[in-house]
Amino acid sequence: MSINQLGVIGLGTMGANIARNAARNGTKVAVYNRTTEVTKDFMKQFEGEGNFASCESYEDMVKALHGERAFLIMVKAGPAVDAVIADLTPHLQKGDIIIDAGNSHYPDTERRVEELKEKGIRFLGMGVSGGEVGALEGPSMMPGGDKSAWEDCKDLLSKMAADDGLGGKCVAYIGEGGSGHFVKMVHNGVEYGIMQLLAETYDVLKNVAGYSNEQLAETFAAWNEGEDLQSFLVEITAKVFEKKDDINDGHLIDKIHDVAGQKGTGKWTTISALHYGVAIPTINAAVDARIMSGSEELRAEHRKDPVRTDLEEPLPKPEQMRSIARSALHLSVLTAYEQGFELMKVASKEHNWDLNLSECARIWLGGCIIRSVLLKVYSDAFSEDVSRQKTAAMYKEQQWSGEKQVHLRLFLELSTSRGIATPSTSAAMNYFDTLHRKDLPQSLVQAQRDFFGAHTFKRKDKNGVFHVEWE
Ligand code: NDP
Repeated sequence: MSINQLGVIGLGTMGANIARNAARNGTKVAVYNRTTEVTKDFMKQFEGEGNFASCESYEDMVKALHGERAFLIMVKAGPAVDAVIADLTPHLQKGDIIIDAGNSHYPDTERRVEELKEKGIRFLGMGVSGGEVGALEGPSMMPGGDKSAWEDCKDLLSKMAADDGLGGKCVAYIGEGGSGHFVKMVHNGVEYGIMQLLAETYDVLKNVAGYSNEQLAETFAAWNEGEDLQSFLVEITAKVFEKKDDINDGHLIDKIHDVAGQKGTGKWTTISALHYGVAIPTINAAVDARIMSGSEELRAEHRKDPVRTDLEEPLPKPEQMRSIARSALHLSVLTAYEQGFELMKVASKEHNWDLNLSECARIWLGGCIIRSVLLKVYSDAFSEDVSRQKTAAMYKEQQWSGEKQVHLRLFLELSTSRGIATPSTSAAMNYFDTLHRKDLPQSLVQAQRDFFGAHTFKRKDKNGVFHVEWE
């Protein structure tokens, strides 16, 4: 059976656009919003776009959809999702499908899959990325949970999803339980990392190299044309620097308060990385950077801290500066992706999700916020095709072995010597520098642990576990 009727519950930014997307693809769509005025406004604006049924209750919605149907919830994550499910399910029949397409935390999704299975309702927890434009024109979608529900929704979701640029669509079954929302959470963690790396690049180009907004716009736009950095986030960054302020003179970027908001998916990524024991320093530094931007009292207390910048590295010529920043950004972005995939790999093992990481990378090639040419590398790296794996390994090796690595180190010297914080870029460098070392200084940590706590240590030259009296 293939779904040809969709109920959309929650007509906020995302829900309204998802509903329109489904209708544009020939599906009958019943729409419902807790605040009825919102449903009425939606109908006023978009009724003509497709076959919509306006509903003021779940009862109405269930009556309006009597074909092969699914109910897609797009409301605020957390208790609101449970509240909607509790009110909706008494009206459903066994075998009906609920899709939670918001940014739910994956343990909640794991629980909901089980709870609904007991009631005979098939549940998909589906990550959706692409913002409001993506939701309307083609998002990247990450459904996990009941596989038979996916089979029934596959045609509809494929029609609604973005193209991946390789002849496929940006949607694939992710795995059981909460895996769809887990993968979306990691997507958002990587998004935090890349956005922070772009912010640091901006800071250095502006405050070390003296770039104007026009030069910044031109630089990021040029990078978006190249083969390493072409991506949605670089593209919109260029456009941000072009935007003039319509309230006062100058560019809008210079009027925007510097406290970054967050809704929790970055924090969840950090918490889960700690939980699974996976290092994701580029991403963690980005979460910390947002927290620090909002620590306004602390920042005010430290504003007059003495900053010594008399060790300044000589400033390269503007053209060279641009190529240094580009290399630093490119290699650092690679580490953000790398860490995200490592986290998914480890969690997949622990939960037996059997995630297909190549497919995860492929469905991020279009529609989503972190879409980028670089994801092709990861789609190859995790594919089962050995020659694709080799191509990806060679690409990564070439990037790190050339001049780019020298540029990344120089970028950090230039920023550090001038007192400009580059936490995610530094974390990216440290990630690389930690992983390539044959001997890490954690031998000392092991010695200290054995010294004060008899925690024992292993030796390089003998098998077994040792403890010594250190004094
Ligand atoms: P909005 O704030 O625009 O809309 C929220 C919706 O949730 C409204 O329809 C609201 O109804 C409904 N709602 C809130 N609480 C309840 C409740 N207790 N019972 C029933 N309905 C409720 O949010 P978005 O559309 O931006 O986001 C929706 C989901 O999609 C979230 O999980 C979000 O994290 C996720 N998401 C958002 C993206 C974005 O770019 N905005 C991108 C990807 C995912 P009412 O009008 O009555 O208040």
